[in-house]
Amino acid sequence: MNALDTLIELSSQMELEHAEDASTALVAKNAPHSAQRDKPACFTPKEKRAAFTHPAQLPNGKQVVLLKTLLTSACERDCYYCPFRAGRDFRRAMFKPQEFAELFMKMNKAKMAEGIFLSSGIAAGGANTQNRIIDTAEILRKKLGFRGYMHLKIMPGAEKGQVERMMQLADRVSINLEAPNIERLARLAPHKIFIEELLRPLKWVEEIRRSQPAYKFWNGKYPSTVTQFVAGGSDESDLELLTTTNWLMKNVRLTRAYFSAFHPIRDTPLENKTAVDPLREHRLYQASFLLRDYGFDLEDMPFMQNENLPLHTDPKMAWAQTNLKEKPVEINKAERRDLLRIPGIGPKLADAILQARRRTKLRDLTALRKMGIIVARVSPFVLLDGRRAESQMAMF
Ligand code: SF4
Repeated sequence: MNALDTLIELSSQMELEHAEDASTALVAKNAPHSAQRDKPACFTPKEKRAAFTHPAQLPNGKQVVLLKTLLTSACERDCYYCPFRAGRDFRRAMFKPQEFAELFMKMNKAKMAEGIFLSSGIAAGGANTQNRIIDTAEILRKKLGFRGYMHLKIMPGAEKGQVERMMQLADRVSINLEAPNIERLARLAPHKIFIEELLRPLKWVEEIRRSQPAYKFWNGKYPSTVTQFVAGGSDESDLELLTTTNWLMKNVRLTRAYFSAFHPIRDTPLENKTAVDPLREHRLYQASFLLRDYGFDLEDMPFMQNENLPLHTDPKMAWAQTNLKEKPVEINKAERRDLLRIPGIGPKLADAILQARRRTKLRDLTALRKMGIIVARVSPFVLLDGRRAESQMAMF
């Protein structure tokens, strides 16, 4: 196999890794405002891109093309949902660190990939595998002078010193929890140890961030951390997923969680399990952004009896229908945190309202529309100078 064929083999399933996906970034931007599942029209269509590159949005908002791949598709673990699990019959491939680093730099110079997301199957233990990822990153940074975006995966079984070294080389480090708790993980990946192998490295990252100054890390900044869950893979509820996500965001400064709706893969123990509606991913993203950026608590989430979010409406709208319909928010008096509860108003628009009302009283929907607010969305839930805004909708 030549290097390009190896790369194609190794990257074949990387769409399962959602980190930095531009489409999920758009959910973040629009999350509580729109139920649409937009696709990123601004990016190169897939047919014009190499199969292993992905349109991505970096944590600073920059849009780039990311190479997402594994160092090896050989794996000694047997996670039930995974196409790379041990014993599955397919051709395995492997890169040596130097070989991969050189190939990536060629692609980078040819402007095929601006950043890198590097993971690996586990071969000869988590710590050995982690060393190969670190070696690759060191060659890229130290020998070949790559200064672009790098997201490195922490391997289950990695040691704390290795996590620290990764943090000195990467813009982002992550480890996928896959399931929200010990019991659920046992149904997905019985040989992964939830607390010791998956949760503890995320805690280490935060401990290391707290104990060392930022200048010791790559580009003088603390790397961000993310994780991913297989949504619906272990029949867990949205409440379970969001409880763990909320805990991680509050306790170990997780930047965000990614949710990958389960779909069965042939020749795995879960091949007959029904695929999960991808809309569930979207609702989970919306809810997680409400928890992270909008001051919502878990108790505010409109969970149904089965502890899942409704699929037919976004969680912020569902909350507002129950809580604001009869108690609309006075736009001229509300505090920022109450403005953020209104469907259609995010952090930027809340700030724009606060600024505008310092100059003048906001009496009609035209004033809101001039700020870029979708008035049909907000009008059922707000008062403008004491009057229900909904009564003005006839003028629009
Ligand atoms: S350890 Fe990773 S690559 Fe290996 S089977 Fe599990 S999920 Fe797949």
